[in-house]
Amino acid sequence: MLAQWFAAKADHPDALLFFRMGDFYELFFEDAEKGAPALDIALTTRGEHDGRPIPMCGVPAHSHEAYLARLIRRGFRVAIVEQTMDPAEAKKRGLRGPLPRAVVRLVTPGTVTEETLLEGARPNWIAASTGTALAWLDISTGAFGVRPAGGAALAAALAAREPAELLLPEDRLADPVFAEWRARAVVLPAARFRPEAGRRVLEAAYGVATLDAFGPFSEPELAAAGALLDYVRATQAGRLPRLEPLAREAEAATMAIDAATRRSLELDRTGPDTLLGAVDRTVTAAGARMLAARIAAPSTIAATIAARLDAAGFFLAEPGLRDAVRARLKGAPDIARALARIALGRGAPRDLAAIRDGLAAARAAQGVLAAATLPRPPLIASAEAALDPAPALAERLERALVDRPPARAGDPGAIAAGFDAALDAARALRDDSRRVVAAMEAEARTATGVPNLKIRHTAQLGYFIEVPEAAGLRLRDAPPDTLPGFTHRQTMAGTMRFVTDALAALDRRIVEAGAEAEAREAAILADLTDAVRAEEGAIAAAAEALAILDVAAATAVLAEAEAWTRPEIEESAAFAIEDGRHPVVEAAVRREGGAYVANGVDLSPGGRLWLVTGPNMAGKSTFLRQAAILAILAQAGLFVPARRARIGIVDRLFSRVGASDDLARGRSTFMVEMVETASILNQATARSLVILDEIGRGTATWDGLALAWAVLEALHDRLRCRALFATHFHELTALGPRLPELRLAHLRVKEWKGEVVFLHAVAEGAADRSYGLHVAKLAGMPREVIARAATVLTALEERARGLAPLAEEMPLFARTAVARAEAPDELRRILAEIDPDALSPRDALDLVARLKSLL
Ligand code: ADP
Repeated sequence: MLAQWFAAKADHPDALLFFRMGDFYELFFEDAEKGAPALDIALTTRGEHDGRPIPMCGVPAHSHEAYLARLIRRGFRVAIVEQTMDPAEAKKRGLRGPLPRAVVRLVTPGTVTEETLLEGARPNWIAASTGTALAWLDISTGAFGVRPAGGAALAAALAAREPAELLLPEDRLADPVFAEWRARAVVLPAARFRPEAGRRVLEAAYGVATLDAFGPFSEPELAAAGALLDYVRATQAGRLPRLEPLAREAEAATMAIDAATRRSLELDRTGPDTLLGAVDRTVTAAGARMLAARIAAPSTIAATIAARLDAAGFFLAEPGLRDAVRARLKGAPDIARALARIALGRGAPRDLAAIRDGLAAARAAQGVLAAATLPRPPLIASAEAALDPAPALAERLERALVDRPPARAGDPGAIAAGFDAALDAARALRDDSRRVVAAMEAEARTATGVPNLKIRHTAQLGYFIEVPEAAGLRLRDAPPDTLPGFTHRQTMAGTMRFVTDALAALDRRIVEAGAEAEAREAAILADLTDAVRAEEGAIAAAAEALAILDVAAATAVLAEAEAWTRPEIEESAAFAIEDGRHPVVEAAVRREGGAYVANGVDLSPGGRLWLVTGPNMAGKSTFLRQAAILAILAQAGLFVPARRARIGIVDRLFSRVGASDDLARGRSTFMVEMVETASILNQATARSLVILDEIGRGTATWDGLALAWAVLEALHDRLRCRALFATHFHELTALGPRLPELRLAHLRVKEWKGEVVFLHAVAEGAADRSYGLHVAKLAGMPREVIARAATVLTALEERARGLAPLAEEMPLFARTAVARAEAPDELRRILAEIDPDALSPRDALDLVARLKSLL
């Protein structure tokens, strides 16, 4: 047995072995030493190896899932080693020595399928990257995608999915783009990422001779997707999960949002006080996952966005229908995840019931939709058509399964009475025993004259007669001849146990009937499983249709309850919001009994760049973030909190609001700010939206002002993107007249009965800079200090006026300086990043235009 353990360990040196022994999974040696404290269970020893006791700990097999969950959450990988033959079979075959065992599954954070290990409302991605392409798979639903992505695009694509596990070739681990993901990285030999091998793996997985039908894939894409699938198959001991067709995401199909922007907008968080928490009105886990995925990767395709908005609009116009659909969806089980477990051979009877109940909910929703009076938009129509995928199978599952079948595979009692005559007969025989035993007990009491005689059952003896010791001694010496084969078997404390021929026969009959019932049930379940697998594509489509309906209905519910509007999505550079609100801050303000002040912004051509000033706590960062969030919601295909929103599609979103120290990586606030600003200036395009707060705050005033100035100019002249720029450098407002696209805005405050009141309303022009003195006065600062400060302020303002002529000269100077010193490096950098294999002709053309503009 130890040899088996060592062999399995050699194959999986980085995993803890859950080594099956009877009713337990045992951990040995260093696994036990690591596992026992992590699981909070006792560490013991067993036997010896090399003259030393072997450390050991164990968990019961029937409740091992909870322990597994704890280990996976703590970052362990676990290899499950099962007995591959049951003891009876081994005996029959005359096998000696330990039972044969094998690793049946490697459990890792990216390959779990258990409900206890998954978050219902979030996809669980495992990803693989070559550095120039990214592939991602959620084995709990079968969603599988790939796209070309290198450098910043790769960083954004990773941030959008937050994979639980990321597979990397060893020669790419040092790539800075993976720095944030090293803790989740699984390093594989570079040879596992080969395009040709990848192609073969994919063709085999889909059972096709060529991948042409799925789309043209570049070599890095094939390498990444192939390595991913290969790894997943290895963790499942050779089995493949159910896979949706591999979807190729075009490079520019989704809004690129990097990790810093996600943090700044708190997109990566879940909970009540987050964007997801504020907008999620879905009633199913699959709907919540779809919503989260849309917000994580908003679309840049006008038609896609319009289709989603149309679907929501339909439910807004049909409120009765919508509520009826939601009522059918509510509490419907998670079909996709049940299906994934079934496909991996890990399905329990409960998963079949989930399919049954999910299909019933889908059929009910279809019935409701049939009553629609308005024409259905395409997304609704196609969802409706997919809702009743396999009526015969659904009907069979209804008849076959009991209402709530057991959660664990192998537990009896899943099949309903009346479904299968042979099963019913075997069960009757088995269950009949109770009546037979009662009759035999009465008979034995009469025959022995012992009134408190009992017939009992243990696994070891089977059925036996038990009597008090005194009566037992008498019976042993003079067995009653009316009970043939009456034999003494055991003496316990105070009692004695006997068997008879009739009891032995009953035992045999019951065991046989039980085994027959079990085998029959297993065969029926296997049949049902096969039937489900035969329809899995259609069932998965129904699950997706339910999620689409859920998200569309939820969008309508939110729009109706909160008076959100349908955004107007355009291919222009417009960005005009009237009376916009920040959903998360609004909810918080409302909870405190306050009222949120709606604000508009217009970054359309002619005023692309807004410079926002105002004192702390006036609402600047809320105003800035609000614009970014509206863009995300709109392009996710949701309605938005605004009276009107006209949005030209944003290709990339950058938000740097509220910089924080990245001390873990030894960078100061200022360094982080500069790194992040640099990445914006290097990546933003004319279609991007940039939100910058307090650039240059982390350094000396003049440095900071100079940097903020130069960044503002670069946004205005070079990137020509839409941008909101908040600053406490009033000097920058001097640039106002000089930069034609620049608009000045401020957040209003007023003094009222000796207190400063924040109005949170945005108005044109620069903020009043003497406001700080008012606050100081209110705070009780000595009068002479205030007076002195006022004098200094006037002097400083003189100086700032002196900056105005400087502003006249600076832009020219800035442009030449940029052209001479920076452009060649930038060209070089871009050229170095190009992966010709991953470029579409369209991308190549864009690239040429970009390079040319940099010259
Ligand atoms: P700043 O960035 O100017 O320091 P914040 O944007 O952090 O200010 O806002 C400070 C607080 O003001 C917020 O936490 C919120 O409670 C309140 N607030 C901001 N904007 C609004 C608004 N439009 N309506 C109502 N309250 C607001």
